[in-house]
Amino acid sequence: MIVAGPHNLYTLAEGAPAPRNDTSVQVRNKQGGGLVLLQDTQLIETLAHFSRERIPERVVHAKAAGARGYFQVTHDISDITDADFLNAIGKKTEVVTRISTVGPESGSADTIRDFHGWAIKFKTAEGNNDWVFNNQPVFFVRDPIKFPSLNRSHKRHPATHTSDADMFWDFHVGSPESVHALMFLFSDRGTPATLRGINGYSGHTYKFTKKDGSFHYVKIHIHADGGVKNLTNEEAIRLAGESPDYLTNDLYNEIEKGNYPSYTVSIQTIHPADVAMCPVNIFDMTKVWPHEQYPLRPVGKLVFDTNPVNYFAEVEQAAFSPSTLVPGIEPSADPMLQARMFAYPDAARYRLGVNYQMLPTNAPKVPVYIPTERDGFMNFSANYGPDPNYLNSSIHPTGFHTTGVSDYKPTEESLSGPVVFTSEITDEDFKQPRALWNKVMAKEDGAQERFISNIAGNIAGVKRDWLREKVFELFRRVDESLGDRIEEAVNKMVKA
Ligand code: NDP
Repeated sequence: MIVAGPHNLYTLAEGAPAPRNDTSVQVRNKQGGGLVLLQDTQLIETLAHFSRERIPERVVHAKAAGARGYFQVTHDISDITDADFLNAIGKKTEVVTRISTVGPESGSADTIRDFHGWAIKFKTAEGNNDWVFNNQPVFFVRDPIKFPSLNRSHKRHPATHTSDADMFWDFHVGSPESVHALMFLFSDRGTPATLRGINGYSGHTYKFTKKDGSFHYVKIHIHADGGVKNLTNEEAIRLAGESPDYLTNDLYNEIEKGNYPSYTVSIQTIHPADVAMCPVNIFDMTKVWPHEQYPLRPVGKLVFDTNPVNYFAEVEQAAFSPSTLVPGIEPSADPMLQARMFAYPDAARYRLGVNYQMLPTNAPKVPVYIPTERDGFMNFSANYGPDPNYLNSSIHPTGFHTTGVSDYKPTEESLSGPVVFTSEITDEDFKQPRALWNKVMAKEDGAQERFISNIAGNIAGVKRDWLREKVFELFRRVDESLGDRIEEAVNKMVKA
């Protein structure tokens, strides 16, 4: 909230009225030159603050649009979770969302072919719950140690500081588990026409839990109520030049017009006793759970009806993490999820400081009491006053207790087994991309042809012949004719 000074006048940052805000104080000579003064606090603060306006850009997901809105429960799922915000049909929860590209920088064009990150913070009666999803159901890798390498290969070459097709494809032929995600990236869905027309997927497997200790494995799906809408490659390239903020403007303008985007949230579930019947490793983020075997169960609606009043305060300073969970939702043994639960808050601490959860856009609606986390840069809370800053104290000056009193206990699950190399490639890695190619894309008019053209245009940028051959081989493992068609299309482009 902006609070005006006593006479609606500019003040200095410390509150004193500023007589003029548009002139520096100068000692002038007869010829009209001027020396500025070190005592001109307003000038010094103006220059010094400007130099410090930027905070570190997110290393991934830097360019984004944001909005606020609500989630409303439409179906009862109290048989599988006690999460308060998911129970009681009709219950509404305030949300903040941020939808981004992944690789390109904050000033980049919205329509560059990329996955889109979709983060949603639910401000629930039990504290915040974050969903940090993508607009595609699978991810490129299943071992978190590859995450930085994957992202660097999609960004800028260390020598040329430009994007580099050799680097991109060199990474992917070395990590063939990424082929399923690549099929999505170069499909129509790699260039959304509007953020109102994208789907969102947890990708990860979560656990929805009950107080009695029971749980189900869950994947969460968000479907655009108006259906998925995509640009052609040519439209996306044109808009990247003509209207680089195309998707951001579209979301903002449609919300301003009252054309609120809405989406349906559903879940797929697996009882722990039935995991063995699933045809894929449910903790592998490069795989989906087949719809036929695991039908979608509707849960609620998401609606974005409010634009940010201040982008920096509400969207840039927003920090989302898969570790932000409420009772009734738990992480599973998905290695990527486990690593993201560390990496996202770590990134927020670097980008915003150790007290980032206190920023208004991140602060939960409920009181927070964790007096063992205090002090630190930019702590603008009362900092727990005189309360003990150590555990298990019997002294409670402000009436709070330092030990938890919630009746919520994490579910019990025993895990054991050898440490394995999770990037081992098997035929399983090619079955679902094959189904996407032969079953899903084949059904949609022109989808296969557009895919070939999109991917060939990219591979044609690879300078090394032997690397291009390896790329064709990768897609031959999905489908012999797919690899051949890509090769043919690339060769035509390279010779042209
Ligand atoms: P289904 O035929 O039941 O599912 C296919 C799904 O593919 C659709 O429901 C839709 O998911 C999505 N889809 C439709 N058109 C396209 C397109 N042009 N490009 C990308 N995705 C599209 O079969 P299965 O569940 O057995 O999945 C078959 C393959 O479909 C999978 O191997 C996977 O590659 C892909 N897929 C599966 C999803 C899943 O969760 N099972 C989700 C998305 C894709 P949606 O309704 O989510 O848009």
